[in-house]
Amino acid sequence: MSDAAADPAQKTKRPRVNVRRPDVMERVAAEVAVHFHSSIVEKLKDRGGKITIGNTTVLLAQQFGFCYGVERAIDLAYASRRVFPENRIFLIGEIIHNPEVNRQLREMNIVSLPWQELTEDYDDLTEDDVVIVPAFGAPTHFMKKVEERGSYVVDTTCGDVMKVWRRVRGYAKDGVTSIIHGKSNHEETRATASRALGEDGTGHYLVILTLADTDYVGNYIKGHGNKADFMKRFGNCVSDGFDPDIHLQRIGVANQTTMLKSETQEIQTRLLAAVIERDHNGANFQVFDTICGATQERQDALFEMLRVKMDMLLVVGGYNSSNTQHLVEIGEKELPTFFIRDASCIRSLEEIVHFDLHKHEETTSYSRILAGDAPAVIGITAGASCPNNLIEETVFKVFELRGIGREAVAGA
Ligand code: SF4
Repeated sequence: MSDAAADPAQKTKRPRVNVRRPDVMERVAAEVAVHFHSSIVEKLKDRGGKITIGNTTVLLAQQFGFCYGVERAIDLAYASRRVFPENRIFLIGEIIHNPEVNRQLREMNIVSLPWQELTEDYDDLTEDDVVIVPAFGAPTHFMKKVEERGSYVVDTTCGDVMKVWRRVRGYAKDGVTSIIHGKSNHEETRATASRALGEDGTGHYLVILTLADTDYVGNYIKGHGNKADFMKRFGNCVSDGFDPDIHLQRIGVANQTTMLKSETQEIQTRLLAAVIERDHNGANFQVFDTICGATQERQDALFEMLRVKMDMLLVVGGYNSSNTQHLVEIGEKELPTFFIRDASCIRSLEEIVHFDLHKHEETTSYSRILAGDAPAVIGITAGASCPNNLIEETVFKVFELRGIGREAVAGA
């Protein structure tokens, strides 16, 4: 099924343009390789992801970096510029959550439009403009607006995200409220929430993020809640007209594709238990696990890597990348873990600039793990939006600080 066919909201009077022309894609593949690929990382992967030189070992997870959805989105964005060399090209928000990738697109004069709300920038779109929809998708009212303006649309929404949309539309059709496990201000969750309203806009949704949210909702389902307090807590995370007394009667769970699997499963279990306690059966509860394969593989690969004793874990990726954040959460339960944007964050043997998930800010930590002559085992992984060249630089940087040059690493 084509992307457009999967999402009726994207019907446009303008014929869709195919940017995947063989001549274009050949050139795109070469450009993407130059910008983001790494032969060193490929070699390392082929050899089991482990390299030891002297007293320093670097381990790579078995699965990390670009997923198929991200690769496709980047290819289509690059192809758009080739197919429309003279047109203005816009992007709804960011193509993916990685600053390096987004920088490359800006260099190609692909301009980001606000994704939080429809601003007057959208009113200025013309029929000659091209609008790229990112891998996360975009809310239906954004798609409608772009369609009204008559602009060309290049839709890079990942097929796994569309699967979630099909699920929540199905819930809406059946009069079931979607409980979406995700971040209410994440692009993908906003796009999914808009589909949970259904074709006629009468569906409802509630977005929850934490187990505390889940228990709060569960208590309400069991009849222990206060409506005003409920709406105070979730007012920004529900559909218009949401009434917990009505719209928690029949619920179906779906999740943002990049959530932590164990947490999503726990949320499903607790909500089902609440419905059973209220109804004495689970007939008013539905569930569909919508975590994507790429997210799952990267989480599983990290769990596997954590079986090996390591001194430090570096997780490379954009700070706003949801699937990368979950890798950090997994790692930091086991060992010193640093969430870095790129190799430049490792300032010296002791100073590391990294994102603190708990304080939601970039911070600087001082660690003696890399310093000294003692053997060190450093694990490296990366989220689905991180290009291999950034991982390569991180590998080089670790060895370089330990006194081992690039040539030695490449030769090894
Ligand atoms: S992380 Fe999953 S949902 Fe997101 S683009 Fe990649 S494959 Fe698609």
